[in-house]
Amino acid sequence: MRAVSRQDATPPELYHGVFRLEPLANGEHQLARHPSGPTMMPDPHGRLLRIATVDSKASAICPSCERPGQGGFVSFVQDLRLVYACPSCRQLVWLPGA
Ligand SMILES: [Zn+2]
Repeated sequence: MRAVSRQDATPPELYHGVFRLEPLANGEHQLARHPSGPTMMPDPHGRLLRIATVDSKASAICPSCERPGQGGFVSFVQDLRLVYACPSCRQLVWLPGA
């Protein structure tokens, strides 16, 4: 579903509201931290995790779609996993962490 890909508005459910999409001059998007984003985020099992740090506009290659982008990373309190938020495939990709 790419129905909103050319709009500036980020649907609130995207990235659980942690990030919002910002259009770039080349037609791609980058992810910026949402100014009123949540402090908790559910993991794939529905467990609510407290967000520790949010990195935005981070250059990375998505583990899911393998496209480079300016995405976002989220780390959590008392949980070593990381999340990569991809501006290309619009997914949250859970990483095992360090
Ligand atoms: Zn991706």
